[in-house]
Order: sequence, then C-alpha cells, then structure tokens
Amino acid sequence: MTNFAERVLTWYDQHGRKHLPWQHNPTPYRVWVSEIMLQQTQVATVIPYYQRFMASFPDLPMLAAASTDQVLKHWEGLGYYSRARNLHRCAQVIRDQYQGRFPTDRETVMSLPGIGRSTAGAMLSLALGQKQAILDGNVKRVLARYHAIDGYPGQSAVQQRLWQYAEQHLPDQRNAAYTQAMMDLGALLCTRSKPACLLCPLRDGCQAARQGNPHDYPGRKPARILPEKSRFALVLRNPAGEILLEQRPPTGIWGGLWSFPEFPDRQQALAALTAQHPVADLHELPLQVHPFSHYRLKLQPLLADLGMSETGIMEAGRQLWYKAGIEFGGGLSSAAQQLLKLLENH
Ligand code: SF4
Repeated sequence: MTNFAERVLTWYDQHGRKHLPWQHNPTPYRVWVSEIMLQQTQVATVIPYYQRFMASFPDLPMLAAASTDQVLKHWEGLGYYSRARNLHRCAQVIRDQYQGRFPTDRETVMSLPGIGRSTAGAMLSLALGQKQAILDGNVKRVLARYHAIDGYPGQSAVQQRLWQYAEQHLPDQRNAAYTQAMMDLGALLCTRSKPACLLCPLRDGCQAARQGNPHDYPGRKPARILPEKSRFALVLRNPAGEILLEQRPPTGIWGGLWSFPEFPDRQQALAALTAQHPVADLHELPLQVHPFSHYRLKLQPLLADLGMSETGIMEAGRQLWYKAGIEFGGGLSSAAQQLLKLLENH
C-alpha cells in the first residue's frame, strides 16, 4: 500500500463517515442512486431525498416500473433534473438489457445513461470493492493541492494529470474504504474555503500546504459572461383559484416537470390568451431570474384572472388545473414553485 493511501486510511478509521444511509447494505443499486444524487449536491441535502427515494423505490425493478412523473416528484427541489431522468432510463436499460443486474466492468457501466468515469469508479469500488479510482469535486481538490497542479480541472490536460494521480495512489486492499476516505477528506478537511491542514494526514507531502497557498488550487474556471434569454409565462387563474399548468417537453430545462405555458415574447402570450379569452386582462408579476449553467433565464410572468366559463383551454394529458397544496403526483419546476408561493399572497 502506498504511503499516501496508508495515511488516508488510518485517518478514515478514526474520523471518516461510516453511517451515511447508503453505507448500510451498499448494493450497487443503493450506491448508484446515492452517487447520482451526490453529483452537484451536498451530503446533508441528499440524505432526506435519498431516504424518501429508497422508501418508494427500494430496488431497481421498482424504479424501472415507476412513471417519469413519480421519479421527478421525488427529485423536486434537488435540481439538475436530467440526473433523475437518466437514473430512470438507466434502471430500464439494466432491467431490459442486463436481466436487472448491474454490469460489473467499468466500460459497460460507463456506457449507461448518466454515468461517467468517476461515478462508475465510485459504484464499483464502494459496492463491490473493486480497485477503481474516482475524481469527484472533493478528490480533485485534494489531489490538485497535494501535487500543486495548476490549471482548471475542466481542461482535459489537467483532468488527465489528476486521473493519473488518482490511479497511482490507489491501495491494493480496502478500496471501498479508501474511496470513501478520499471523499471525506475533501469534504471534512480539505474544504474549498478553510482547509484544515494542521489536522490533515497528508500535510507532510502536500505541496500546496508547504507553499502556503492551498486556496490557489484547483485553478478557477476561466470567467465567462452568460448570455441571457427572455421568456414570458402565462399564468391563468380560474374563479376556483386553480392555476393552469403545462408539462414541459422531456428534454431541456425543467424537462418533464410541470410549469406555466411559456412564450418567446409578450405578443405571442397575448395572442394565445385572447384567442380563447377575449376579455381577460394581463397583469405583470415580478420578474424571475433563473441561472443555468449556459445562460440566465429572465422569465416575466403575466397573470390573467379568467371568468366563470373560461376554463376550456386545457389540453388533456399535457395541461391541468392545479390547486395549491393539493398533491397531483408530478414535479413542479422551480419557476412554478416560486410563482405559486407568490400567488398565495397575491
Ligand atoms: S494539507 Fe491542507 S491543502 Fe494539503 S491536502 Fe491536506 S487539507 Fe488539503
């Protein structure tokens, strides 16, 4: 075992996390769901979502048989909904093409929807004890600091160096514990803003600690100004206080979630409204801004209160009249969640 791995494992035995819900009975299914939830999301946020998800979908056949709406409902509020759609699709692929059993070689696992090299490595290591490396955000930070690797890890040359070191440090035994230990070290000691170098088992060999500049690693993403998109949301309210919701297409932002009918400009929103409701008035609600990874969405909601007989706009299956507080089994977009809250007081 390398000196690096030995020190990490000794620290883990004393200080590592050993009671996370997915560490009990770590089957490939349970570890896979946790790894997908943990992409982009902190452990503390994930735990209640994970527990609810496991209560509803305790195994792969149950997840594969669920509807997309049911799965998205369990993801509501976690963000990055493509993770949930891929999870669902992946469960169906494993059921249909792999007799319901997870493949156990890394290349095949990486060919499944939504599973990259690090997630595949984590699953095979944590669930099956295979000698596989991972490179999630925590591990990137530890390795970039330990080896003082310059540059942004999103660049392929930097990423390649990080993978080389990740593989080089792997122990021959206790790989599952080592994988968890590296994640814990990054999350608990080598944190982004306050690395606790004095408590760190890697301090002796760490180049960034020796240089006194751990904050310089990993390199920052080159700055980029995000483009903006403007859209208009039509918020139709009937006399019963119900709001018209529309299911979004399965791909793209908020894919498969329920939101408001959306239009590229005010004229088109107005035209859609007056085609069915010639006398309705539109009121502007406060502008919403939603930041996504590739652009900022500026969404202008336009509220129209409809008369008694004007609820015929609904397209069955794609639209529904929603009453705040009543469960309907689908997931709501964050735009819809914000607006519904606002409307409660409007
Ligand atoms: S010594 Fe400090 S910078 Fe280096 S790995 Fe440990 S916590 Fe991170």
